[in-house]
Amino acid sequence: MFVTTKEMLLRAQEGHYAVGAFNVENLEFVMAVVRAAQSKRSPVIMQTTPGTVRYASLDYFVAMVRCAAESADVPVALHLDHGNGFDRCVQAIRAGYSSVMIDGSHVPFEDNIALTESVTKVALPINLPVEAELGKVGGKEDDGPAVEGESPYTDPDEAEEFVARTQCSSLAVGVGTVHGIYKGTPHIEQGVLKAICSRLSIPLVLHGTSGVPDDQVAEAIANGICKVNYATELRQAFMHGFMGHMEKDPACFDPKKPAAPGMDEIQAVVESHMDNLGSTNKA
Ligand SMILES: [Zn+2]
Repeated sequence: MFVTTKEMLLRAQEGHYAVGAFNVENLEFVMAVVRAAQSKRSPVIMQTTPGTVRYASLDYFVAMVRCAAESADVPVALHLDHGNGFDRCVQAIRAGYSSVMIDGSHVPFEDNIALTESVTKVALPINLPVEAELGKVGGKEDDGPAVEGESPYTDPDEAEEFVARTQCSSLAVGVGTVHGIYKGTPHIEQGVLKAICSRLSIPLVLHGTSGVPDDQVAEAIANGICKVNYATELRQAFMHGFMGHMEKDPACFDPKKPAAPGMDEIQAVVESHMDNLGSTNKA
């Protein structure tokens, strides 16, 4: 069933688990992720970055994810990840996304508030939840902001004011994670997370979670995280399965054949995260 992230995340918050938000790149990703959700009886969020939206279009992803959701008996949401601007968010809502993120983390505090508020003003009256971001997630997701050399952590005082003024439905926080592939050992600042959580009542979101050890993610969930984003690991899984087939059968010219093990590998990654996030059997 196709739903918004609102109820999904509030239920997760009450139940002290998190819902996985998995970045999908094409039809095969959509099919593999929904298969995992079905087999684990888990709610699931599929989401697309600006680069992926440019690659296909909002309409393609709405059609594919709605089709997957309608054939599934678990809750499925389609979320705009790192919405880059007011226009893009409105386009996504109009196209049929059931949740949007407006990413103002790269602009100063007051500008981030103004930008986020511009989206909540149109989305909340039609019950579309809005994720915002305060603080910085390092690294580079697509062409998202890269931040080197400035404090990446979300300030709890600022977070409280930000949420009160923007009325955002959930908040992505900077607590030490980075997008893409980790160079060093991933480390979530649990103390910062706890401090933010103690000041807010809305669900918190963790970005850049590919490669973060499961025990750190589980601890972050205990400290208030309700949505956990995974992108890089799914890309790696798909290509590993795909290329594995092509190595064994270099003359293969049927794209469905290498895609099958690619989908199997995505499904395995997603299922294992659902167990760790605690969303298994919560559909
Ligand atoms: Zn992100």
